[in-house]
Amino acid sequence: MTKTNLCGMFVEEIVAATSSCGLEKYRGRQLAEWIYQRQAADFEAMTNIPKAKRELLAANFSVGIVTLQAEQAAADGSTSKFLLALNDGLAVETVLMRHRYGNSVCVSTQVGCGMGCVFCASTINGVVRNLTGGEILAQVLYADKVLSQNNEKVDSVVIMGSGEPLANYDNVLKFIRLCHEEYCLGMSYRSFTLSTAGLVSGIDRLAAEGLPITLAISLHATNNTERSLLMPINEKYPMEQVMAAANRYATTTGRRVTYEYTLIAGINDTDRHARELISLLRNRLANVNLIPINPVPKQGLHRPDKASINRFVETLKRGGVNATVRREMGTDIRAACGQLRHKVLNEVDNT
Ligand code: SF4
Repeated sequence: MTKTNLCGMFVEEIVAATSSCGLEKYRGRQLAEWIYQRQAADFEAMTNIPKAKRELLAANFSVGIVTLQAEQAAADGSTSKFLLALNDGLAVETVLMRHRYGNSVCVSTQVGCGMGCVFCASTINGVVRNLTGGEILAQVLYADKVLSQNNEKVDSVVIMGSGEPLANYDNVLKFIRLCHEEYCLGMSYRSFTLSTAGLVSGIDRLAAEGLPITLAISLHATNNTERSLLMPINEKYPMEQVMAAANRYATTTGRRVTYEYTLIAGINDTDRHARELISLLRNRLANVNLIPINPVPKQGLHRPDKASINRFVETLKRGGVNATVRREMGTDIRAACGQLRHKVLNEVDNT
């Protein structure tokens, strides 16, 4: 019999699920704290619950969701990438980034991705399945446990790993709401950034939630012809529709939208691209996050040299667009999304 996993449930859901074990209602919160705050590996560790009840719980439920399958750490210690195995044997990537201003975790929301962006390793084998809210949360809990060894914690979450989060909307929202619960991680909604390839209906739905989550749009090009070549989803949701939805999001939430722009040598990093980007973004409640590409082997896409990157960012700034270059973290550990999972899959295929 497959046991029901309690990780990923709200307290009320835990209470309802475990009522058949004769647990008092208040035990739901105790269980939640054990699972989310103390990250108990099993029921045996939950010593404030009577032994007989713990045994009954263990016979019917489980709590663990992920186990470490592979890990890479950047030489400078700034970034750790974990390949975490799920209970069905599939695996997802999670990246922990230690910034001067706090610790950030980048989570995956799907196994693989169906969006087909040409610069991304996550999509090479397509989408396999959506992650549950519990499976997304388990990635943050894992990183939090690593950090707790140095008395640190997760300060912010970027939903920017493998997968398109708005294609797995309900699970992603459940994950965010759970992280916010005080019996879980007690994180503010402002500490979340959700990045989308541009699913317009999902952006509008998110705006209607009324949560102050930062929205990031993966733009990566300055006109529809070039964007469609890089991101096939642009055929369904052309740039102007995506940017109009982003504007509505900014108006509704009062939150500045971030536009992600992966700089690829010779493809989207010329002066013309900088000028087109200025006309697109000037006078919007927005800023641009420039990401020099982590080259994906075999796809022939190269990182621009430092001088070209600097010229691009300076042109944007002179044109009145708020732009920053993302600090290069983890290049030496293939921190671009999907690259560790893809490497491990290839190694398995080649054995
Ligand atoms: S960049 Fe994001 S949306 Fe595009 S294929 Fe990769 S994971 Fe999917």
